Amino acid sequence: MEYVKKRVRDVEDFPSKGIVFKDLTTVFKDPRALHIIGWDLGQLYRDKGVTKVVGVESRGFIGGSILAFELGAGFVPARKPGKLPADTVRAEYKKEYGTDVIEIHRDAITEDDIVVLHDDVLATGGTMAAVYELVKSMNPKKIYINFIIELSALKGRDILPKDAEITSLITY
Ligand code: AMP
Repeated sequence: MEYVKKRVRDVEDFPSKGIVFKDLTTVFKDPRALHIIGWDLGQLYRDKGVTKVVGVESRGFIGGSILAFELGAGFVPARKPGKLPADTVRAEYKKEYGTDVIEIHRDAITEDDIVVLHDDVLATGGTMAAVYELVKSMNPKKIYINFIIELSALKGRDILPKDAEITSLITY
């Protein structure tokens, strides 16, 4: 993981002043780093019978697709409002300013599914908490939560459900 960690690019003051953005494009463009990410994400869930990986728009689509492929599972996008073409379920959540909405196709998850929710970075946890509530309302057998990077100082874990097993490949 040191090889991957070295390739994460810190971009200061993006998207706004005071934020240090953890840029993973410098990881994904490196063939060896991309391979390590795929393999190590897969190792976390290989024996757990996972049937679907939910990727959070948009950076969660990259690692989420790779993880689904590694596990032989299906991939489900969790998207911003109005992007999915068919019937959706939605959750509203609070952001620093105002609220936001996340949607999943109503037929994307069934009660037989074992699901991993994936995003690239865990910051305050608000986005993932909303995705969890949404998927939980669809009653799958089990929900896991996964990130490539966890920013522990922001304590995102504290607002995520205690019964979900949360993993991340790199913690800062
Ligand atoms: P959260 O605050 O956990 O709801 O994060 C909101 C979204 O913004 C997530 O999809 C994260 O991937 C992304 N994000 C938040 N903070 C950062 C950061 N410092 N670097 C990279 N991505 C971030």
